[in-house]
Amino acid sequence: MQFIDLKAQYAAHKTEIDNAVSDVLASTRFINGPEVKELEEQLAEYLGVSHALTCSSGTDALLLGLMALDLQPKDEVIVPTYTFISTAETIALLGGTPVFADIKADTFNIDPEQIETLITDRTVGIIPVSLFGQPADIDSIEQVATRHGLWVFEDAAQSFGAEYKGKKSGALTKIAATSFFPAKPLGCYGDGGAVFTYDKELAERITMIRNHGQRKKYDYARVGINGRLDTVQAAVLQVKLRHFDEEMEQKRRVAGWYAELLDGLVSVPPVLSHNKSVWAQYTVRSKQRDHLQQVLKERDIPTAVYYPKSLHEQDAFRSTASDGTLLPPPSCPVAEQASRECFSLPMHSFLQKADVEYVADVIQKGTHEQ
Ligand SMILES: *Cc1c(COP(=O)(O)O)cnc(C)c1O
Repeated sequence: MQFIDLKAQYAAHKTEIDNAVSDVLASTRFINGPEVKELEEQLAEYLGVSHALTCSSGTDALLLGLMALDLQPKDEVIVPTYTFISTAETIALLGGTPVFADIKADTFNIDPEQIETLITDRTVGIIPVSLFGQPADIDSIEQVATRHGLWVFEDAAQSFGAEYKGKKSGALTKIAATSFFPAKPLGCYGDGGAVFTYDKELAERITMIRNHGQRKKYDYARVGINGRLDTVQAAVLQVKLRHFDEEMEQKRRVAGWYAELLDGLVSVPPVLSHNKSVWAQYTVRSKQRDHLQQVLKERDIPTAVYYPKSLHEQDAFRSTASDGTLLPPPSCPVAEQASRECFSLPMHSFLQKADVEYVADVIQKGTHEQ
């Protein structure tokens, strides 16, 4: 059994993908080929945003967004501690300070009540992450942000296609970032990402920054990066976007089977009634996590832990005393407990009910062993 089955997905769409890639190879328009612009139009329409700007990775999408928002050294940005490193790394790369908030125990997303307690006169924005495919509590976060004049920048790297109150993740905030890393909900065949925004000025800045800050050829208005998406990746994504909704439907069916068969054995992830998850991960919790992972491994069922350590516990973000020793990390008890109890099960659109029954059966036997 595969954790995420990219081989089956390629086999299912092989002719279309091979043709799309060969067309780019034959055209030799590897950088800024017409497929890139076409994809951007399709992405903007799919999400219902004004501007979709593709780029070299999800990490660069966050970086481009923060540069366009004009993040300054020493600015503070509030982020959930339970996320992938990029959410905080990009802030720190620009000289800013990521400030870590604890999460909600049910959704694993940032706790809006924590945000308010972390705001200082240096705070400029909030990056909520829509973790494992389920949107964060955007309305509550926007309310705090409005009260304090902060921007909100959704990290939708794991939630492309998810919905919050009938709107798509990526289109919930003034600006959002996503990743097209192969294993993400919409993945390409290498690195890729995109920034989405309603704001024309931000879109113009991002367009410039991702191409070295260039205004016209060899005329540089500001300092930028090489942050473009390759044409080959855009061609692959155009094919995958066409099949995206049908694959999501199947993943939602798989999640339904898991919820039914695992109930009472481990705690299954709740999806709030106003949300639709894209199931980037199917993450369950158990006090017997390590034991169950071992039992599943013995039966060739792959699992993974997202995340064994939260960001506030990482040395890269720990404060140091004047003698250089690391100070103890602040306390985020909900995230720390999640790190000890969570693990993710195989989740993709090629799983059949019999596969889910097999996983549930192994988990059931495993929970009774201890
Ligand atoms: C994957 C991921 C990123 C980074 O995306 P890359 O394309 O790998 O650079 C950022 N944030 C979150 C929450 C992610 O899961």
